Amino acid sequence: IMMWFCLCPLFQVLVIGDLGVGKTSIIKRYVHQTYSTNYRATIGVDFALKVLNWDSETVRLQLWDIAGQERFGNMTRVYYREAMGAFIVFDVTRPTTFEAITKWKEDLDSKLMLTNRESIATVLLANKCDQGREVLTNNGVKMDQFCKDNGFVGWFKTSAKENTNISEAANFLVKHIMATE
Ligand code: GDP
Ligand code: MG
Repeated sequence: IMMWFCLCPLFQVLVIGDLGVGKTSIIKRYVHQTYSTNYRATIGVDFALKVLNWDSETVRLQLWDIAGQERFGNMTRVYYREAMGAFIVFDVTRPTTFEAITKWKEDLDSKLMLTNRESIATVLLANKCDQGREVLTNNGVKMDQFCKDNGFVGWFKTSAKENTNISEAANFLVKHIMATE
């Protein structure tokens, strides 16, 4: 309850990517420590708040889950306006969701720039890594190069199902947001 009165920094973070890649699952896992196989594709935008202790300081992350917008392949500018960081998620078992990443990144960059004309800190999440598919991520060097070429600050193999690397990815993003502030 008290968190609503907290004056500590609030960072808005977008979670975007194709339908079914696991955006809602990642957020639920991170914020509520739960996992379910049937989140409904909700309409509109959902918010979830995560309170973090960061170097003896408290930081709040407001995660924007753009449920239901995915089918349009982009979002209205209003969703992007206040964001300071983003996760772009793909599903390692579905190559088309990887191919969509550059489209999502271009959409993000076209709508949102920091005042210094840099794009906001964006981390790539290769989700469902528990599936044992290494289609796109078996070569970390290639993924590192892909991130460099496409303006991602980094990437993580994640699993919402098995709770792999989600808080690590969030900490990494917060670190970059703090550095670009
Ligand atoms: P969204 O449309 O991007 O929000 O995707 P959802 O979070 O609704 O997830 C779509 C489906 O993928 C659901 O059936 C989830 O249970 C499943 N899913 C999400 N994350 C994972 C994961 O890390 N591993 C596996 N195996 N399935 C996942
Ligand atoms: Mg969803």
